[in-house]
Amino acid sequence: MVQHQPVITIDVEDWIQSVLDREYPITEAGLRNMEGMLERLERLKLKATTFVLGKFAEAHPAMIRRLHEFGCEIASHGYGHVETFRQTPSEFRADVQRAKHLLEDITGAEVKGYRAPVFSIVRDSLWALRILAETGHRYDVSIFPIHHPRYGIPEWPTEPRCVLVDQEGRSILVFPNTTFPLFGRNWPIGGGGYFRLFPYGVSRFMMRERLKNSGYIFYCHPYEFNSHELDEVPVPMSLKVRLHQGLWRSRIPSRFERMVREFGGQTFDEMLNRNDLKLRTVHLKDYLPRIGGQSARDLHRAT
Ligand SMILES: [Zn+2]
Repeated sequence: MVQHQPVITIDVEDWIQSVLDREYPITEAGLRNMEGMLERLERLKLKATTFVLGKFAEAHPAMIRRLHEFGCEIASHGYGHVETFRQTPSEFRADVQRAKHLLEDITGAEVKGYRAPVFSIVRDSLWALRILAETGHRYDVSIFPIHHPRYGIPEWPTEPRCVLVDQEGRSILVFPNTTFPLFGRNWPIGGGGYFRLFPYGVSRFMMRERLKNSGYIFYCHPYEFNSHELDEVPVPMSLKVRLHQGLWRSRIPSRFERMVREFGGQTFDEMLNRNDLKLRTVHLKDYLPRIGGQSARDLHRAT
């Protein structure tokens, strides 16, 4: 698969609610950050795929309508920002259905894509792909094929796949988040800390290499473009959280704009509408963990 432009994705959420406290109400700061992001997209004439959190859309539906009218793709980030592995399959089904219906009611357009909170489709919650296919999602961008303490499936293919999820032939397209192989392991290069910390030239080299084969998916959050936000947050946070979230945030806007000027950008919807997208098919059952000799597929069949 040759992908000529990066797919630009933005997780639309509110920092405190998504990172520190799931019960915290969505703030006006989240809206201001998104307004800044939309202005940036308009100035760059860049259409992005936005994975919108249901709770955010409920608090600020007019912003979601503006994004849609500008031409961004509205996809789903679930409703409450709870990691998939902290939910039962039935809780997960209710969460993604609620978000999908909410977003479709706001824009009138079909929601095709999903990204889990904190990339949280892991080996033990791979059943989520079956539920996503059953609830009408066409593609997923939740998996990071890396070793990481909180998420990741290191053995997952680093290229997109069409995943058959059941015996009836239902399937979902799975786009893993972008990695680069170096020193015998895969490194996450699609955004976040590595995009902030690597010299830009290194990021650019890796991006070019990925675009030649498996493609490049960039991810970001509107709050990453606001380097003052952490000074204004009205709740206490540890030094570790502060450094992890805030270090070199001020680099993000100029790097993002440079990347878009050099490489352009597209939405998933635009990429999927092209005819040259041919993905290999794999079976979900081949990736499910085996628990006590019984495959997780059997355990979850009853759900
Ligand atoms: Zn999120």
